[in-house]
Amino acid sequence: MASIIDMIKAKIDVVEEVGLVVALQKSGRSFKGLCPFHNERTPSFHVFAESQTWHCFGCNEGGDVFTFVEKQQGLEFRDALAYLAEKAGVSIEDNGTRSPEEEREASAIKERLRKLNEDALLWFHQMLLRSKDADEARAYIQSRGISSDSVIVFGLGYAPNQGNALSGFLLGRGYSEHELVNGGLARTRESTGNTGGVGSVERLGEASSGVYDYFRQRIIFPIRDARGRVIGFGGRALGDGQPKYLNSPQTVLFEKNRVLYALDLAKDAIKLAKQVIIVEGYVDAIIAHQYGTRQTVACIGSAITEKHIQQLKKLTKQVTLALDPDAAGATATEQGIQEALKGFDRSIVPVPLAADGHRTGTRKEAKRNEPRGMIRLEEQVDAEINVLQLPPGQDPDEVIRQDFSLWSYSVAHPIALVDYYFVAKTASLDLRQPGGKTEAARRLLPVIAMISDRVKRDAYIRKLAAMITVDERSLHDELHRVLRRQANPAVTAMFSDPGGLRSIQRAPGQQRPLTKEDRQDDEIELAEQAKEKSRREDQEQRNYVLDRNWQNRLQWEDYLIGLLLQNPGLSQYVCGIINDGDFAGTDTRELYRILNSVYQRGSSPLHQSFEQYVPSALLATIARARESVESKSPLSGTGLIKDARQCATRLKRMQLLQSNTELRYLMSEAKEAGDAESMRQYQEQLLAIHRQLRTIDSAMHLHG
Ligand SMILES: [Zn+2]
Repeated sequence: MASIIDMIKAKIDVVEEVGLVVALQKSGRSFKGLCPFHNERTPSFHVFAESQTWHCFGCNEGGDVFTFVEKQQGLEFRDALAYLAEKAGVSIEDNGTRSPEEEREASAIKERLRKLNEDALLWFHQMLLRSKDADEARAYIQSRGISSDSVIVFGLGYAPNQGNALSGFLLGRGYSEHELVNGGLARTRESTGNTGGVGSVERLGEASSGVYDYFRQRIIFPIRDARGRVIGFGGRALGDGQPKYLNSPQTVLFEKNRVLYALDLAKDAIKLAKQVIIVEGYVDAIIAHQYGTRQTVACIGSAITEKHIQQLKKLTKQVTLALDPDAAGATATEQGIQEALKGFDRSIVPVPLAADGHRTGTRKEAKRNEPRGMIRLEEQVDAEINVLQLPPGQDPDEVIRQDFSLWSYSVAHPIALVDYYFVAKTASLDLRQPGGKTEAARRLLPVIAMISDRVKRDAYIRKLAAMITVDERSLHDELHRVLRRQANPAVTAMFSDPGGLRSIQRAPGQQRPLTKEDRQDDEIELAEQAKEKSRREDQEQRNYVLDRNWQNRLQWEDYLIGLLLQNPGLSQYVCGIINDGDFAGTDTRELYRILNSVYQRGSSPLHQSFEQYVPSALLATIARARESVESKSPLSGTGLIKDARQCATRLKRMQLLQSNTELRYLMSEAKEAGDAESMRQYQEQLLAIHRQLRTIDSAMHLHG
């Protein structure tokens, strides 16, 4: 039976989670970025999708998704578990992880954070209304056509360009620096972070407190949850401050890829209008509301995620996307559509198997080249996704203010997805040229193929034929080839839900006798299938070896924890050899940490009482660890100490070998990229690891 921790890890991708906070760059099979835990200019922070771990080769911090959340949000394991479980949709309540007091404590923390946000909002708002410094901010708001009513309704504010004006105010109200930082309103002076607003830290060095304001010289847009409670802020830079938009960092309340701006104000209107309009910017949403299109929300950040849709589908089945109409926006719109579809019916989304380890990356790429998943969904999804057509180059707020009748007509007559694709996919093509015509057909036939209704499909074939002035019959032939290829098992096998996909594959009557050309196609496809199969087998073999090493390591960790549980006095003999960061298991790592702190407090836990220090999600691990020791013949005295030291040493060695593997991999990446500086750095660290390994090996030799 999978543990709660395993279930969470299976659902939450460490690359995705880290990516919420750190701008990650794909680099071969790993991802790199600037370390959020120490100040650096060149990235030495790496995330490994395959092992679902991260490591900073600069400050030597590392671990899994739990460690990251704990460190980044300043949470205890227990709270990180609660946070990740909620995110993964895994219930920990049934397992009684928290006592009622702890439950109260956690909600008290959230409550206090909400209070903090409310206080900050009032302060920002007062600043905007009264501060002399806010002239520029007020002028900007006026220039965007935002009425003073809207300023009040949306609670807009202003963050002045001072080091710690807000921090000072909030500290004066009795909040701690820790609370300000965890609430995303301040940063500590030592870590500049890398999510923006960097650069002025040195200048602020002379200020007295240990924190400085997160938002400076910005218009503040308070972000509320569906119930209207302030959970975070968005700040737009005044002047040429960078970044232009800065949102609150991830906190226990604020989850960037889930928040829909103005949802609290739009909820009722969405139900009434049976439609939700999704725009990109704060101002777009405010202006839409101001002019009466109150079924409008904005997605914070760039793309629409499944989590956004999850919240909306309770309210309506019609999603209208009013995203940036320019070229870059078209990609975003397309991504939004894919996410929207995904959100509406999760069960039939054909998720490609992780080909290169990283789940999201490959999924997105696969989808870009392979519109089938999306296509099949559209037929099944009980939802209507359409697109607002706005004049090119104009944002929704401009259209609304300049030509409201055009806006409200577009809102009432959004264009269907397929029609949108007809425009979007051919915008860059010259349809008078033969090359352009062929390309248009190549791009649009798969879109047409996704329409299940034959009459509709024929209509779109006619439309395409007219558009590129090509004979309808030849397009029909091509369409059948596309349909046939879609039914090909080679493609189906790529998806993890073959049943779901196959059952909606192809209606009878679409078959036709094979022609010579088809057979050639088949031969090519067979060759590709064979290649794909051997590639997958290689990967499986590699995963198997990895898996075996991993399992082996986890078993030793269980054993060591078991030894320490039985004999708390052993801690002093192993704590010099390994520390909690050397553990591969999330559960064993946390247990080791608790064991050490209990031991250091001098209260040696008895057999029964240790469990009281431990979240119930870890109780199964304790049982397993005890069993692992009890199944061996009992040791005593020096034998026991020797056994514990050996086990700790072995685990340390495994950890060093893993770092060794990671570094070697990064070395080869750097070599390929011709990055001499990184190579030198990695080389140095490899040498350090080899030195440690030699020390360990000789110690092992000495102590037998
Ligand atoms: Zn670091």
